[in-house]
Amino acid sequence: MGKNLTKRSEDYSKWYNELVVKADLAENSGVRGCMVIKPYGYAIWEKMQAELDRMFKETGHQNAYFPLFIPKSYLSKEADHVEGFAKECAVVTHYRLKNAEDGSGVIVDPDAKLEEELIVRPTSETIIWDTYRKWIQSYRDLPLLVNQWANVVRWEMRTRLFLRTAEFLWQEGHTAHATREEAVAEAEQMMHVYADFAENFMAMPVIKGVKSESERFAGAVETYCIEALMQDGKALQAGTSHFLGQNFARAFDVKFANKEGKQDYVWATSWGVSTRLMGALIMTHSDDNGLVLPPKLAPIQVVIVPIYKGEEQLSAISEKVAPLVRELRSKGISVKYDNRDTHKPGWKFNEYELKGVPVRLAIGQRDMENGTYEVARRDTLEKETVHEDDVVSRIENLLEDIQQRIYQKALEHRRTHITEVNSFEEFKEVLESKGGFLSAHWDGTAETEDTIKELTKATIRCIPLDAEEEEGKCIYSGKPSGRRVLFAKAY
Ligand code: AMP
Repeated sequence: MGKNLTKRSEDYSKWYNELVVKADLAENSGVRGCMVIKPYGYAIWEKMQAELDRMFKETGHQNAYFPLFIPKSYLSKEADHVEGFAKECAVVTHYRLKNAEDGSGVIVDPDAKLEEELIVRPTSETIIWDTYRKWIQSYRDLPLLVNQWANVVRWEMRTRLFLRTAEFLWQEGHTAHATREEAVAEAEQMMHVYADFAENFMAMPVIKGVKSESERFAGAVETYCIEALMQDGKALQAGTSHFLGQNFARAFDVKFANKEGKQDYVWATSWGVSTRLMGALIMTHSDDNGLVLPPKLAPIQVVIVPIYKGEEQLSAISEKVAPLVRELRSKGISVKYDNRDTHKPGWKFNEYELKGVPVRLAIGQRDMENGTYEVARRDTLEKETVHEDDVVSRIENLLEDIQQRIYQKALEHRRTHITEVNSFEEFKEVLESKGGFLSAHWDGTAETEDTIKELTKATIRCIPLDAEEEEGKCIYSGKPSGRRVLFAKAY
């Protein structure tokens, strides 16, 4: 059985959509822009959640939960915030249905109109800062380090499974601090936490930086971000962390008595990553045969497929494999022994390749006689015969090696797709021929950024944190610039 996946080189976007569905990660639902995350996809998301949650707790944060609905009036309190989100808000106006008198079905009951309309949260700063007013009185109540795992709704017009959906799952951290310095340090810290997660768990290299003003979060003073590069040369914003200044404290009147007894507004941050990371994971590593998952996030790390004729051979193999399964599990390795007799081994091989299981073991009659296993790695598709005495340590090795190798491969891809360009002609040429990040001088104005976006669809992905000072001229306006920024076409 072939996988019938479109090749990446033929149509990257089609390949992506097919893979998400065929690998059983997610599918479209009856509501436009909303997706069903299937068990296998959700298992990967749960692994991401578990690691991130651990990292948040290690940095002193606690989880809480705030409501799905936000009174409409709250949203208008912070001017930039409402302007940024107004166009994407789903609004609840009524709370009851009734049977239509003409028997045509149920209709909204006009008598059940809400006194104040409610917004389905697109993000929770407003409801959280309205609550923080009650929680914070003095410097002793600070810092407040809270995270929530939730769903949010942003009425996006152009949606793609995982990458941009109308409803998505995410975590949003919301912290409150006594000083500007502390809040800035928190926002920076969380960007580093995200980068650590992306690189060490997702095996996805990222560039840390700050957003230009026009790409900044609505209501933020500074937006820190991690940006990744996908295989097709397009960039993906993988996570954001915002320094919100005192904007939300002013809007919601959240003051505290500082050590000197003076009243001051509280400093804020917020930070989030979403199910978009699933899309990032897929588009960083997978190939024409299906998913390639980093071992640290793979729901099944090792699959064992028996090759047999008849009950007797199967039970001999099962008996042989049982202690191996136990040993691997005791080492914290997730292993599946697929002894289903409803599918042929070839079908299973295909299936686990499509699903990106990092290591596959096969055992047939010859292996039984020789005391060996056939061991295949998903990233390179290489196979080897390993003696049963060495198989556990070989698997441990392979899991580490695959994690490292796919990271290095992605890093190499990114390295060869960051191009320094020094004129607008060169900018357009490289963008079309090769894509990737273009490192270019920019005059720092929103006008130039907008014009470049209009002409080329490329946006400033970030001003990298490690950008060196360098005298240069803006590739578009020729005006002076003090350092290069990264442009790219983005998802
Ligand atoms: P923001 O609150 O806009 O800074 O977004 C927080 C995180 O959610 C970022 O990592 C975004 O890339 C991601 N994100 C924003 N909009 C969507 C969407 N429609 N679908 C999935 N992820 C999103």
